[in-house]
Amino acid sequence: MEVRIAVPLRDFYNGHEHEFSIEKQQICEECEGSGSADGAVDTCSQCGGRGVVVQKHMLAPGIFQQMQMQCDKCSGKGKTIKHKCPVCNGQRVLKKVVTHTLQVEKGMPKGSRVVYENEADESPDWEAGDLVVHLGEKEAGYEEGLREDGGFFRRKGRDVFWKEVLSLREAWMGDWERNLTHLDGHTVRLGRKRGEVVQPNQVEIVQEEGMPVWLQEQEQERAGEEEFGKLHVEYTVVLPDQIEKPMEKEFWALWEKWRKKIGVNLGSDSGRPEHTEL
Ligand SMILES: [Zn+2]
Ligand SMILES: [Zn+2]
Repeated sequence: MEVRIAVPLRDFYNGHEHEFSIEKQQICEECEGSGSADGAVDTCSQCGGRGVVVQKHMLAPGIFQQMQMQCDKCSGKGKTIKHKCPVCNGQRVLKKVVTHTLQVEKGMPKGSRVVYENEADESPDWEAGDLVVHLGEKEAGYEEGLREDGGFFRRKGRDVFWKEVLSLREAWMGDWERNLTHLDGHTVRLGRKRGEVVQPNQVEIVQEEGMPVWLQEQEQERAGEEEFGKLHVEYTVVLPDQIEKPMEKEFWALWEKWRKKIGVNLGSDSGRPEHTEL
């Protein structure tokens, strides 16, 4: 018996106790699985407890065909009940909703299988199998609050990915700050001083701000200490669609001034470095 449960990334980050309910077949407690109100179960008189009856057909004079058929009186059970259990109506089992607790541990990989032994469908005739929970991740964006900052975290193993948008001014001239709210609410500060340039699609790695490392995957020598993966911040630079007329004029004049002064040809090289290392 298998079920899929998807939890938000936040729960994988913080650890979370999750309750879930499933409907499963349980042995009727009232009659303890006998199906009888008074506990009396009789052997079927029609089949003698075998559950099957043999019918003889005469195909031709002296030639018989034997056919084994399920006994219709006891439906093949071999037993009959005079007074049926009122709770299960003689069925011996009931469908019931059972609630389980799922412990989502910090850093648990998505796709983890959690096994609940003997928690599958019960029957008086067999031993109950295991209930297996497949742990999945709820897609970001569906969960309220995750998009507060206009974006969301994505996970790949121990690492977490984030996209941050910068204006042209910020990317080019620096002097900006962002306070990223992490999955547990703590703040990750991003920023550049004046004069520090960020290139479009540049990726910044922030150590120890990824996913917590699952206890079972931690290296022995660091056991007990909390370990974290990396946070990858990818910067997107957005250029303005248009510039206000007076501003455009001033920028233009400024470029013209510097072009004449140091001989930068805006038309051909726009001030790019000669050897690009990107
Ligand atoms: Zn029978
Ligand atoms: Zn019953």
